Amino acid sequence: MNEFGLIIIGGGAGAFAAAIKANQLEAKTLLVNKGLPLGGTCVNVGCVPSKTLLWAGEVMHQAKSHGIPGIDIEVKNFDFAKVVQHELDLVAKLRAGKYEKVLNGLENVTHIEGKASFVSPNEIEASGQKYQAKKFIIAAVQQQLYHPLRYYLLQVKHQIPKC
Ligand SMILES: Cc1cc2nc3c(=O)[nH]c(=O)nc-3n(C[C@H](O)[C@H](O)[C@H](O)COP(=O)(O)OP(=O)(O)OC[C@H]3O[C@@H](n4cnc5c(N)ncnc54)[C@H](O)[C@@H]3O)c2cc1C
Repeated sequence: MNEFGLIIIGGGAGAFAAAIKANQLEAKTLLVNKGLPLGGTCVNVGCVPSKTLLWAGEVMHQAKSHGIPGIDIEVKNFDFAKVVQHELDLVAKLRAGKYEKVLNGLENVTHIEGKASFVSPNEIEASGQKYQAKKFIIAAVQQQLYHPLRYYLLQVKHQIPKC
């Protein structure tokens, strides 16, 4: 019952790419996600919210500082709460359409909410249950992973000689 061909840990873009491919290959797959909602970083707290808010900032900035003589733009109202609500609505819409709906359509993929941890090389525990698989894909990007990488990249940047 709890045996799968593949277990995918995570629920972001990486996990979804793997789940869609596994479904095509008709692999009996379990997708385990906990922490961020389905969609992971990009749709919930990364790409989508950041670009939505950056675009709002860009519009405000350009309206005031576009630098084109002869064009005067007046910003009549700036309701930041409304801007943020628009961002939250967009995130909810994309999460539902691009992730939740897609996952529901993957007939070979079972989804559970739970924080996965390995109890043996072929077994994880999540939400008090144990699940076995032959193969695992860990698509659970953790912020800690970013830190050493970012530090390394900063060091590399400082080592590049000035031209
Ligand atoms: C502010 C910001 C802006 C960004 N903008 C862009 C952009 O414009 N373009 C771009 O290409 N990329 C952008 N990125 C990067 C992009 O969001 C990430 O590269 C991408 O989301 C990584 O996807 P992922 O599936 O690997 O991991 P994530 O999307 O981080 O998904 C990991 C999932 O695993 C879950 N998880 C973690 N541990 C466990 C566990 N033990 N058990 C179960 N589930 C677990 C987490 O809750 C999460 O849902 C941005 C990132 C940030 C922070």
